[in-house]
Amino acid sequence: MTQKPHVAILPSPGMGHLIPLTELAKKFALNYDLSSTFIVPSIGPPPEAQKKVLGSLPEGINYISLPPVSFDDLPGIRAETQISLTVTRSLSSIRDVLKSLVASTRLVALVLDLFGTDVIDIALELSVPSYIASLSTGMTLSLHFYLPKLDQMVSCEYRDLPEPVLLPGCGISVHGRDLPDPIQDRKDDAYKWFLHHSKRHSLAEGILLNSFVDLEPETIKALQDQEFGNLPPIYPVGPIIYSGLSIGANGHECLQWMDDQPNGSVLYISFGSGGTLSFEQLNELAMGLEISEQKFLWVVRSPDKSASASYFSAKSNTDPYSFLPKGFLDRTKGQGLVVPSWAPQIQVLSHGSTGGFLTHCGWNSTLESIVHGVPLIAWPLYAEQKTNAVLLSAGLKVALRPEVDGNGLVGREEIAKVVKGLMQGEEGATIRNRMKGLKEAAAKAVSEEGSSTKSLHELVSKWKN
Ligand code: UDP
Repeated sequence: MTQKPHVAILPSPGMGHLIPLTELAKKFALNYDLSSTFIVPSIGPPPEAQKKVLGSLPEGINYISLPPVSFDDLPGIRAETQISLTVTRSLSSIRDVLKSLVASTRLVALVLDLFGTDVIDIALELSVPSYIASLSTGMTLSLHFYLPKLDQMVSCEYRDLPEPVLLPGCGISVHGRDLPDPIQDRKDDAYKWFLHHSKRHSLAEGILLNSFVDLEPETIKALQDQEFGNLPPIYPVGPIIYSGLSIGANGHECLQWMDDQPNGSVLYISFGSGGTLSFEQLNELAMGLEISEQKFLWVVRSPDKSASASYFSAKSNTDPYSFLPKGFLDRTKGQGLVVPSWAPQIQVLSHGSTGGFLTHCGWNSTLESIVHGVPLIAWPLYAEQKTNAVLLSAGLKVALRPEVDGNGLVGREEIAKVVKGLMQGEEGATIRNRMKGLKEAAAKAVSEEGSSTKSLHELVSKWKN
């Protein structure tokens, strides 16, 4: 009997990478009878959220945890540099695992994400075709292909460019300050890594994109029509979103609370698995919510100067309640519920009481909101979130984006205005309607005859033959 085709999957550290890749593996297993092995590099002991996701994978999907790497020798480096170095410092163990998979399975592909492109060389040595899973927008993928050119053309920081940047195929222009965080300081190693991975995108055999044709028609067409030069084939296969059980605690109570709220009345607030606000910003948000008089469910983490302080742990560093304004919890009893660290997001977004989502614009959260038709307030923090916010507010027009004041804060009045605008205003109603349209388009894309289903089918057929 011939062996089942097998896929190796390498997620770089971070829940936002692991979650969509496990979902992709579930599709491989359930719809195509492909088995897979996750090769998991990590920094120190794995976070609880990661253990939970990997521990609940269905049959046919295995995982191998690599020896954790340490950064004691490089204190204070940026998250993107750490993520890239976690992969490069794990290369020898990745090679060992890949070699053993080649020997013991019918390995048809290696799937890696943006920060794993250095593994493509090992895959080439072992004659295993590599595919990059591009886990953000087509717009960000367009940036990856355009960045080497931009790097040559521009000598200043991108945020100092007088004119916004028009990414090929994207239709909307982006101010330099809204380009991804790791490219905001060109002298930092994070920039060099981002550019390095961008350049290596063209070495892949193909690129799976977690977006869908009807969401970004022009961009995807431009990427597929080779407007950027000779690119690997692009397979838009999204939206691929989390379908597992709730990852963290607090699920039961907050859903029970949601059950008691009127239909479409609650604004859900979360900054993803790793986002944190400064102490001042946390206070403004609390006060803004209070004066908006709108219902809310807020996932709170203890404040930090770094916006990605919880990225690797996916939890609050200390008790977050102690940082809220004095008396806030008492005064907002009945108006809102605050949960520490983590909420069962998919269940919240699919709950009838949810009427809006104030999000950090992480791409998984965004797709989850689209799938459930929930309109957005775009509050980007780090990574490519500001670029996503431009697409959502200026491009797709399904989000309101609050203005940041001269001190780099979103003030309480601005917050209250935007929250009321989304939940009660006319503009909010228009946005809600547009989001409904996207919800339908998303469902169509992954239906039996949908564009994303066909695209995945085409890719897997190539692997199987
Ligand atoms: N998530 C969740 N509960 C939370 C925060 C996050 O379930 O309280 C999940 C969310 O549903 C999404 C993922 O964690 O699937 C976050 O991914 P995203 O790309 O939005 O942001 P990142 O964490 O990578 O910044």
